[in-house]
Amino acid sequence: MSDEQVEKKYGAYICTGCGIGDRLDAGELESTASRDGRMNVVKQHEMLCSKEGVQMIRDDIDNDGVNHAVIIACSRRAKVEAFDFNDIAMTRCNIREGVIWARPDTDEAKETTQEMANDYIRMSCGEIKQMNKPSASGQQSRNPNVLVVGGGITGMTAAIEAAEAGYTVHLVEKSGALGGHVAQLHKRVPFKAAPQGTPNSPDANLPMPEDTGIEDMIAAVEG
Ligand code: SF4
Repeated sequence: MSDEQVEKKYGAYICTGCGIGDRLDAGELESTASRDGRMNVVKQHEMLCSKEGVQMIRDDIDNDGVNHAVIIACSRRAKVEAFDFNDIAMTRCNIREGVIWARPDTDEAKETTQEMANDYIRMSCGEIKQMNKPSASGQQSRNPNVLVVGGGITGMTAAIEAAEAGYTVHLVEKSGALGGHVAQLHKRVPFKAAPQGTPNSPDANLPMPEDTGIEDMIAAVEG
């Protein structure tokens, strides 16, 4: 059955944690999601990213047929692992960083902050209506082979990632040895800079050159 033929059931999940419940009227957010956003299921949780909060959403997906969800909480860059519902269409409505963190916490601003959050919810509910449940393109099974040219750090990274994604990887390297330029290095430059204001003296606790880690990568590729 194609995605267009599957009945869409919409769920909106409002988090009141991280100060959202203190700054906004969660009951009004619920009304906005159901009345204006036309969500079929609207629920609140005091910490949506907790085990219980995530389970509440999972139960609605598994038992109540929710297949399109709006997570009304923090930025989509936060709690990515917690909200990893890859069997449904999902979007994130950012009322933490986007609304309460961006607005002054004053009595005077309270009403417009609430209006802003309501608008964010209306937009996210509009967005989810345009989304479809993820489905396979059908092309994956045609050729499960990936050719990676070059066995330096970039080629090996690509090879490992592709293999972890389930592809059969053919890695070719003209020199006959893996590792490329990095394999010639004794150490690499540290990724972390010294904290601002650290004096450039032999006594300062400066980040030191680190192992390249290339041997582990070569072992992973050869394995
Ligand atoms: S991190 Fe996000 S989901 Fe978790 S309590 Fe805070 S706003 Fe809610």
